[in-house]
Amino acid sequence: MRLAYQFKLRLTKSQTTEIERWLDMLRHQYNYLLADRFAWYEQNRCAINSCPIVCHLPEPRDNPDYYSQKRTLPQLKKDRPWYKAIHANVLQDCVKRVDLAFKRFLKGDSNGRRSGRPRFKTKERFRSLTFSAFSKSPIDGNRLNLPKFGWVKMVYHRPIPSGFKIKTATVTRKADGYYVTLSIQDDTVPDVIAIEEVTNPIGIDMGLKSFLVKSDGSEVEIPQYYRKAQKRLKKIQKAVSRSKKGSKNRKKAVKRLGQAHKKVADTRKDFHFKTAKNLLSNHDLVAHEKLNIKGLAKTRMAKSVLDAGWGQFLSILSTKAVRVAWPTAINAGLITKAVNPRNTSQNCSNCGQKVPKKLKDRIHSCPHCGYTADRDVNAAKNILKLAVGHPVCSSAARS
Ligand SMILES: [Zn+2]
Repeated sequence: MRLAYQFKLRLTKSQTTEIERWLDMLRHQYNYLLADRFAWYEQNRCAINSCPIVCHLPEPRDNPDYYSQKRTLPQLKKDRPWYKAIHANVLQDCVKRVDLAFKRFLKGDSNGRRSGRPRFKTKERFRSLTFSAFSKSPIDGNRLNLPKFGWVKMVYHRPIPSGFKIKTATVTRKADGYYVTLSIQDDTVPDVIAIEEVTNPIGIDMGLKSFLVKSDGSEVEIPQYYRKAQKRLKKIQKAVSRSKKGSKNRKKAVKRLGQAHKKVADTRKDFHFKTAKNLLSNHDLVAHEKLNIKGLAKTRMAKSVLDAGWGQFLSILSTKAVRVAWPTAINAGLITKAVNPRNTSQNCSNCGQKVPKKLKDRIHSCPHCGYTADRDVNAAKNILKLAVGHPVCSSAARS
């Protein structure tokens, strides 16, 4: 399995300068490679049904791709020897980023969603560089050895679990300093308890007012401090839009906005971790609805206030589930199970009959069996039933 651990870096002044110098060089290379892609694309594409009468004939050459662009790197180091300071893998990662950005622009990502035209990056927009290929023990105490860059100090607040190897390290400039994200991997596969052995399962549904509703009827509220932080964010946002473009005040406000955004993201993540931990320490199976990013816009509009966080929460939940019991002594991972959310809010969790309701109907009240519950609790119960194998829709209801 693969995990990401993030640590704050404590760079010396000269290290900061060096990182910024690398970022600057990589940014230039990124923009250059991107321009190369655009140049070929503009010169070689043609309207489907017609050709212009006057036509620019480009020098015939192959479409630049990841490999051909990668092959230009040795020449780059000859022409611009200062690029030799950067580790080869870091440079190659820069080529990869161009490739990815351009592919997403032309073909779209795995979900078929196309991104916009890739932008040339300004200093503010080029914030990170990625190292790969590490020595055997790149961590010594609270220090990390970045290939060809050297040892850097970090706030090593939690150790990397044994058995994990560092695959990549991404150094990022953020609003309040530099961070390193370590992507670590362990190839051994944990055992997961069998579904028949589950003793204390629970189903959860995204709540309308609360963060989530459990099938036992209890709720997890959205913390007050999170709302407060969002209010503050709005205020700073206003200050930014009121200030004059290009002014010193605007620069200051933008910086404050960045810091506030980070704080909101951090508190939200922290809340997600705590909630996940709480769920997993009380239950051995957590059933939740399968998140359909594409369909989200259609079905979840009313709950959109919380949407931003739900996907992150579910991913934290599933990674944590594997890790809670592992790699510690107990040789079993816990289970999280995603189920198809279809009809989970419409059907009765007690008898299985369909009880149509609109989004504004907060209470589920079954005319067939008399079962009455909060709408979200009913949905959570259905989700749990689906996960442990009983259909929401009984055969009687289907016929
Ligand atoms: Zn019923």
